[in-house]
Amino acid sequence: MTQSLKGKVAIVTGGSRGIGRAIALMFAREGADVAFNYHRQAGAAESLEQDILALGVKCDKACVDIRDFASVKDWIAGVKERLGGIDILVNNAGIVQDKALMLMTPEDWLAVIDTNLTGMFNVARACIVTFLKQKSGQVILVSSVSGVVGLPRQTNYSASKGGVNAFTKSLAKEVAAYGVRVNAVAPGYIETDILSTLSDQQRDAILKNIPLGRFGCPDDVASCVKFLVSEAAQYITGQIIQMDGGLAIR
Ligand code: NDP
Repeated sequence: MTQSLKGKVAIVTGGSRGIGRAIALMFAREGADVAFNYHRQAGAAESLEQDILALGVKCDKACVDIRDFASVKDWIAGVKERLGGIDILVNNAGIVQDKALMLMTPEDWLAVIDTNLTGMFNVARACIVTFLKQKSGQVILVSSVSGVVGLPRQTNYSASKGGVNAFTKSLAKEVAAYGVRVNAVAPGYIETDILSTLSDQQRDAILKNIPLGRFGCPDDVASCVKFLVSEAAQYITGQIIQMDGGLAIR
C-alpha cells in the first residue's frame, strides 16, 4: 500500500477520542508522524499512542488545554523540535454544552466559545508562522453543520462553529499566496461520546431527517480529511465541506 503522507508531520488537537482519534490513525496509516493532544482522559490518549506506534510512525502525545494560549504555543514549539517540523494541522478538539438560551449561563457560553473558537485561534496562531516561512502547510478545521444551518439549544455551539467557518474563509484568503491551504469539514451527527446523551427517542427523530439513513462514523470524517490533504485536493481552499448524510440539504 502506498503511504501518501510518508515523511510528513501532522498535528491533531483532541486526538484521544472520537473523530480526532480516527483522523490521527488515518495519518499514521498514511505514513505521517503524528502529534496529538488531549485534555482529561489520559487512558484514551495512551491507548491511541500505542495504536499509532504500532503502525511504525512516530507519535508525540501531550496533555494540553487548547484554551490556554501560552501552553499551546509551548506545545507546538516542542512538537516542531521533537518531530522535525509541521506540515498539517487539524484543529478538531471541541465540546458541546447544549441548553435553551433562556437557561444558558455565561459559563455555558464561555466554555464552548473558549474551547471551539479561541482554542482554534490558539493552535492556528501557533502554527501559522512556520507554514508561512516554509511556504507550505495545511490547516483543516473541524466545524459542524450546526455552524451552517443553526440548531436549537446550540446557540453557543452554532455561534462557535459559525465562527470557525468564517475563520476558515478569512485565513484561506490571507495565506493562499504562501502556498498554505485552509479548509473545514462540517460533520452532521457522528457516533462519538458527544452523542451519548441522546435518548433513543431523540436518535430516532434525528435519523428520520438524515437522507442517507444513518449516523456518520469517525472514519467518514477521517476520509474527508484524507482527501483534503491529498494531491487530489491541491486546488481546494477556503471551503467548508458538509458531510452529514444529506442532513443539511435545503
Ligand atoms: P469527543 O467528545 O469524542 O472528543 C473530544 C476531544 O477533544 C477529546 O480528545 C478531548 O480530550 C478533546 N478536548 C476537549 N476539550 C479540550 C480542551 N480544552 N483542550 C484539549 N483537548 C480538548 O468529540 P467528537 O470526536 O465527537 O468531536 C470532535 C470535533 O468534531 C469537535 O470539534 C466537535 O464539535 C466536532 N463535531 C462532532 C460531531 C459529532 O456528532 N460527534 C458533529 C459535528 C462536529 P479528552 O479525551 O482528554 O477529554
